[in-house]
Amino acid sequence: MGNTSRVDSRVGIGYDSHRFGPGDALILGGVRIPAVQALVGHSDADAICHAVTDALLGAAALGDIGALFPDTDPANKGRDSIAMLGAAVQRARDAGWIPGNVDITVICEEPKIGPHRNAIRARLAAAIGLDVDAVSVKGKTNEGMGWIGRNEGIAVIAVASVTRR
Ligand code: MG
Repeated sequence: MGNTSRVDSRVGIGYDSHRFGPGDALILGGVRIPAVQALVGHSDADAICHAVTDALLGAAALGDIGALFPDTDPANKGRDSIAMLGAAVQRARDAGWIPGNVDITVICEEPKIGPHRNAIRARLAAAIGLDVDAVSVKGKTNEGMGWIGRNEGIAVIAVASVTRR
């Protein structure tokens, strides 16, 4: 077998979820979105950034966000997730992997993602070092089903590609 794993591009997948709690805004992809609830979590609960971070780390086979930024470390409490994403990108670059594109699906009943799509794309593109047209953000509802349908929280799935430097 030998060198068969040495390919020039890879993909990774990331998933994250956070529950809603009291508040008047949430942060998704580094963008503050006014809402009737907030997302709660150890960090700023930015589920888009967390899913994208895991997708990039996964593509580079560098572990996951929990290993890089343990929630047992007080330094990570309330931490800016855009900064964590940037650190993961740097970790991937250090390992010889350059991000190629990311594609994100946000699943929630509220808020609507469409009006914030381009702001999120721009913020993520800057954080990752991509052109905006290499960052895709899509919003879906869960058709009223299950915990997402009951508006208990939000889920995000992301994929990312990387190419060898
Ligand atoms: Mg998270």
